[in-house]
Amino acid sequence: MRCALAGAQTGMAKWTAALIWSLSWLLAWQAQAAVDIATPSTVINPAPQVAVLEDETAQLGIEQILEQAEALPWQMLEQEVPNFGFTHSAWWLKLELANDSHAPLRRLLELASPLPDFIDAYAVDAEGRVLQQWNTGSRRPFASRPVRHHSFVLPVHIGANETRHVYLRLASHDGLVPALPMLLMDDASFLQRTQSELMAYSVLYGGLLALLLYNLLTFVATREKAFLHSVFYLGAFLLFNLSLRGFGYQFLWPEWPRFNQQVLLLSAGLLYVALTLFSLDYLSLKRQAPRLAKGLVALTGLLVLSVLPSLADRFAWALRALVPLSIGYALLLLGASAWLSFKGDRLARIFLLGWSGLLAGSVLYALRLGGFVPYGLATEYALELGAGFGFLLLAFGLACKINYLKRAKLEAERETYELQRTLNHQLETKVHQRTQELEQANHKLAAMVRTDPLTGLLNRRQFETLINEEIQRRQRDGKPLLFAMMDIDDFKLFNDTYGHQAGDQVLIEVADLLKAHFRRAGDRLFRLGGEEFGILLEADSLEAGRYALERFRHALQQLQIPHEASRHGVVTGSFGLVCCSDYDQVPAAMAIYRQADQAMYEAKQISRNRVVTRSLMEEV
Ligand code: GH3
Ligand code: MG
Ligand code: MG
Repeated sequence: MRCALAGAQTGMAKWTAALIWSLSWLLAWQAQAAVDIATPSTVINPAPQVAVLEDETAQLGIEQILEQAEALPWQMLEQEVPNFGFTHSAWWLKLELANDSHAPLRRLLELASPLPDFIDAYAVDAEGRVLQQWNTGSRRPFASRPVRHHSFVLPVHIGANETRHVYLRLASHDGLVPALPMLLMDDASFLQRTQSELMAYSVLYGGLLALLLYNLLTFVATREKAFLHSVFYLGAFLLFNLSLRGFGYQFLWPEWPRFNQQVLLLSAGLLYVALTLFSLDYLSLKRQAPRLAKGLVALTGLLVLSVLPSLADRFAWALRALVPLSIGYALLLLGASAWLSFKGDRLARIFLLGWSGLLAGSVLYALRLGGFVPYGLATEYALELGAGFGFLLLAFGLACKINYLKRAKLEAERETYELQRTLNHQLETKVHQRTQELEQANHKLAAMVRTDPLTGLLNRRQFETLINEEIQRRQRDGKPLLFAMMDIDDFKLFNDTYGHQAGDQVLIEVADLLKAHFRRAGDRLFRLGGEEFGILLEADSLEAGRYALERFRHALQQLQIPHEASRHGVVTGSFGLVCCSDYDQVPAAMAIYRQADQAMYEAKQISRNRVVTRSLMEEV
């Protein structure tokens, strides 16, 4: 009996709860309108009809929520996109779906962000019974998702003429509940939406991947570092975007939930490092603005440090530092490229344009996340649009840079060539000049070898060389060979009287007089040694030669160089002249010399200051 009563009491309690539940719903009817889901082929944002409840303890379960129902301080969301930011509370969202049609319906509730840590969702009927339940979120295995999709898709079944309450509990692991766009649609609309979305992402990822591979191959071919940096940033951006949009978890690492958490911020850090490397190189920042370059490197270091807490699962910490640092970084790069553009750097202008696109996209996306701008296709995908535009322009800028480098190299090569040509020319001129100088020196040397330094007449060695040539030449021309020797009279006495230097001066004067007298083309004058001279005369006969010598002897005497020790009182000379005209019996050169010497000796013997002639044939 007691048991029966107890059972009746529990039955009563149940009925009372159901009654209160139904009444509370009737009361709440005014506050929260149901979403009419019967209209097909539309995508509805149900957020305006969503009621929200903050559970600061994060302890409430669905049972308590259903039991306490409207006693809880539910409030209308009044946002286009639920966004709770940095919070340790659990957040409950309540949504009523009404099916006014006569057939059961299925509607898909897409929670269009892959980022929330924990999502617990319940579909509850009018009697407060939980008919469907999902426990998923990015911190739960991928397999926990009812639909294999990069974000969360909940298929809610609603019977004909029935309503469903959908309760969503959003909670975070470490204090960040990110924005969560909500979309409600039928299967066909979902299919269309997914297809468009996949198409857009295929274009983006395909384009970026193609650009990445192209830059990688270009790097292999050119070894130009900027291409490798662009491969890094494209790779980092791809990784970042794949994890931000949930495609990485869906397709690449569904078995690694922990990696899925960490890769997002680590790839962001990597992206900053790659962009810094690229910017330093592309803008030649170290050369153009060394302080800015240092600032950029320091900021990148801080950014890398700021993503490190994510390794220890502290994402809220990491993001708190990352957001302001990112803004600083973007402004610094924007400022640097704007300043260089202002200074006339064309490459910086392309960079500025590309960076502005990238930045505008990121800012718009961040504003959308923060709920400052309404949710829409353009704002949702601003990041991707900006990045696509930016990366394309950076690739263009890179090509321009390579072109500039090539041109600069050609210019440098041309300048080097010009310089080399000038140097060669200078060298040639110098060599020519030196050769000429050398020739002149050689000439001088040869002349010195041939001539006597005191008088400038040909020397003894030259006499021995030339005498044979002269014999042959005169033989060829059929002319007689006339050779005379002259010796200054009493020259030893002259030296003794007037000194050796005065003697030298006499030698010079005698030589000059010889040069003045014997000026025909064939005349040759020699200093044979001491005060002895030799004369190869250009004359037709012995008589003509004798005449020329007499004139000279006379002229020497007329110079009136005092010589008190001489019997003539002045400097005089004795001459021996030989003539050789019969070339059938030409004597050797030395024989001619000897004959002339003998004739001269004879002149000395007779009286000095006279000419003795000899026709060579006489004594040969
Ligand atoms: P002779 O009339 O017989 O020819 O008498 P000489 O004194 O001229 O003949 P000798 O052969 O005895 O002397 C030649 C002198 O010429 C000896 C030497 O002092 C002088 N002599 C030789 N070469 C040079 C020279 O280069 N400069 C000067 N100042 N004197 C020289
Ligand atoms: Mg002598
Ligand atoms: Mg003498």
